[in-house]
Amino acid sequence: MRQETGFLVHRSMLCKVSPIFADMFTLPPSNVNESFEGLPVVQMPDAAEALEMFLKILYQEAALPVKRLDPNTPALVGPLLGLATKYEVEHLRTQVVARLMEDWPTSLPAWDTLEAEITAMREGWHSRHNCTGPTCDEPLDHHLPEPVAAIQLAKQYKIPAILPSAFYHLSRLSIEWGPDGTETYPSIQRGRLFMGTRTARWKSLPGNDYYNLLAGRTRLQNAAQRHVRGWKFEHVELPGDILAEAGVSDHEDEGCSRNARRNMISDLEKAIASHPDVLRTLQTYASFPLHNEPKDVCPRCVFIVMEKASALRKYLWEHLPEFFNIDTI
Ligand SMILES: [Zn+2]
Ligand SMILES: [Zn+2]
Repeated sequence: MRQETGFLVHRSMLCKVSPIFADMFTLPPSNVNESFEGLPVVQMPDAAEALEMFLKILYQEAALPVKRLDPNTPALVGPLLGLATKYEVEHLRTQVVARLMEDWPTSLPAWDTLEAEITAMREGWHSRHNCTGPTCDEPLDHHLPEPVAAIQLAKQYKIPAILPSAFYHLSRLSIEWGPDGTETYPSIQRGRLFMGTRTARWKSLPGNDYYNLLAGRTRLQNAAQRHVRGWKFEHVELPGDILAEAGVSDHEDEGCSRNARRNMISDLEKAIASHPDVLRTLQTYASFPLHNEPKDVCPRCVFIVMEKASALRKYLWEHLPEFFNIDTI
């Protein structure tokens, strides 16, 4: 026998939040005999558990079942998004999307802020819980968003805004580390998790998204290298009074070698080619103090490179949808 669950709700409230419910209640009841304690009954095909959460949120008896940065968020909000979409409850959908965008930033400054937060979480992570050492069952990865589930959810419910950061994040992860990558050496994998490595549910990613992911990673690296290779600038001697005004002493202005400038650029190019996290590589060149303070390059030329690296990050971020074929998804 099928188990039935009933919810006692107000017609006026449902009509107010959902045009679909409003239409439904203007139709004559399909089965006039159906009533419960004198009240009309409407049969719903939806899962009772999801419907209960949905109604509780509409009645403001419950908050969204979402913690910030929780890897299980897509699984938790999926059924809710399904109901919000089906019954056109726009404000609930907007609420869920806003929460997803906190985990998957849609602007570069927001991305940088979240990255800095995660870096801070990683430092001293194990000292903040009752840690068992390398067998730790609370690795950082279990407390950070997981990209494959987010990508699936975004595609199913048409939330393209979170796809650029989700694809970019996935593109910098190795398929080698679980929970379902190529888990050849479980002890090494545990060690990686202990060190704060992030993982993805690789086996759940559909084939065409592997194509989009690999194409995007390559396009991103190529575009970054092409730009860096094209950076042309000459060292310029400024008159002494301008230098003094800028706080640069004459001494610092000496010894800016063409070779050193070239080496600085080619080091950056090599770093871009060898690390998939291009935005991070560029950031080490875009902010003081530089990761590797170049010798024999004057402060003004270093500053020019910083500005170029910073502009290139913005350019790459804006082109993520193009790199990862997001517009066609
Ligand atoms: Zn631990
Ligand atoms: Zn210079």
